[in-house]
Amino acid sequence: MNYRVVVVGAGPGGLVLAKKLAGQGIGVTVCEKESFEEIGHNWSDAVEYSALKAAGLDMPELAGRQWKGTLVKGGPEEPGIFEKHAVPRLKVYSPGRESFKEIDFDMITTDRRRLAQHLVTEAKAAGAEIIYNHEGRDLLYTENDQKGPGGVSVSGLTAKELRSEKLIAIDADLVVESSGFQSVLRSSLPKHTGLADPFEKSDFALVHRDVYNYDPESAEKGFLSGSEAQIIPDHYRYGYNSGYQWSHIHNETQIDIGAGIKSDHQGADPREIVEAFIAEHPAVKPGPVRGGRSLCIVGRPLKNFVTKGFFVLGDAASTSVPTTGCGVGSAIYAALHAVEVIAEAAAEKRNDLEKLWEINRKFYLEDPRGPSLAALNELRSVLQTMTHEELDFLFEKDLIDAATLQEAINGRYKRLELTDMAKALRSGIARPSLLLKLNKGIRAADKAYKHYLNYPSVWDAREFELWQRES
Ligand SMILES: Cc1cc2nc3c(=O)[nH]c(=O)nc-3n(C[C@H](O)[C@H](O)[C@H](O)COP(=O)(O)OP(=O)(O)OC[C@H]3O[C@@H](n4cnc5c(N)ncnc54)[C@H](O)[C@@H]3O)c2cc1C
Repeated sequence: MNYRVVVVGAGPGGLVLAKKLAGQGIGVTVCEKESFEEIGHNWSDAVEYSALKAAGLDMPELAGRQWKGTLVKGGPEEPGIFEKHAVPRLKVYSPGRESFKEIDFDMITTDRRRLAQHLVTEAKAAGAEIIYNHEGRDLLYTENDQKGPGGVSVSGLTAKELRSEKLIAIDADLVVESSGFQSVLRSSLPKHTGLADPFEKSDFALVHRDVYNYDPESAEKGFLSGSEAQIIPDHYRYGYNSGYQWSHIHNETQIDIGAGIKSDHQGADPREIVEAFIAEHPAVKPGPVRGGRSLCIVGRPLKNFVTKGFFVLGDAASTSVPTTGCGVGSAIYAALHAVEVIAEAAAEKRNDLEKLWEINRKFYLEDPRGPSLAALNELRSVLQTMTHEELDFLFEKDLIDAATLQEAINGRYKRLELTDMAKALRSGIARPSLLLKLNKGIRAADKAYKHYLNYPSVWDAREFELWQRES
């Protein structure tokens, strides 16, 4: 098929898109700035099981607290993508560890480097071309006299071949920016398109996560109470230092310990939070085996992902779950929605905004994920203004209940019930100013959710402008 898609960035979103498009006979080139050995992260993330399954991976089955399947690692250094230990239920503690709730955890611990390399192999087998050490720089586009997303037409990009330092021009019917939160390409567009705005500092968390060896036999100290003395449980400590802290066991000898904070938070660095946790748990052997740290996008998704000849995917479009920073699942789902649209566009030899708008429609109207992310962003913003003591209170009084937490942590929005709050006020456990603060957050989240349910289903400049004005 004579239609060329260039995907910039070999993250999970870009690679799943490349694999699926190539599988339909569409010419796809993935342009990645790193080498094959460097792509992905040198740690293991909690990734939505359903997204990886939808992407076509041979997913393991649960057998008690273990995953069983061909892609499960036998041990830390053995082949495979998924860590052996399963966390079907997760304990979520309040920041002061005063109380906890148990939730269903719809994630699987996934080695990000192995996942990236596996997706590359699959994309190549489907016919995609991958060019490493090529850094996307600027979009090639022409302007017309319209303002807004209809005002430009993208025809390719410039990229730097990092070894020779040579700048090259690459033509494409469709350029997909899948380059993560730095989103270099879209920011080269004119501001009036609405696609070029940089993310704000408050849209980021700073996250640190490391894998450590541990000794379950000699675990002397439990996490919360004596009854848990022999193990270091899988847990979140939610709302801690404006973010959360966690530990996830990988297998019999290794554990992942991490923390994230609001990027402009003035308290402890996430590395210090991790170190403090280790100091509390003598069973963990200091000195990380692997891991790393980086900013992580947690803001509201872009209101529009497309213009003529161009589509923004994954973290570049801020589609991570704001209440956790987990973005792999969203990037994969966004890619899968886009595949159907791009395949149709390719068959019709189209790349116009009207056609590509269908990608927005699917993300915001067909999938509850779009409106949920907008709502969860509002919830995140208000939770981040609360003190540990306030959050401990809301946990303890069940004003933040297990069902709401379960949805928020799994990337879905469930409205907190205001009637429970009215009950709380009447029963005398009230803290009026705190409840008002929570109420304000719930209202903002509801409003955002409803607003996205009214997202324009087809491209219409006037309708989109009106919708944006009400945001
Ligand atoms: C410490 C940490 C922990 C995290 N934990 C989780 C977790 O548990 N679960 C989860 O789901 N998510 C987690 N995330 C977030 C997750 O990593 C991202 O949401 C996800 O990787 C986004 O995928 P993506 O496809 O959008 O692109 P990315 O994975 O960001 O990949 C972008 C790719 O583009 C390449 N690139 C960048 N710029 C250019 C350029 N100019 N030209 C060419 N190539 C370029 C990069 O090298 C990279 O390979 C975590 C993030 C961090 C930092």
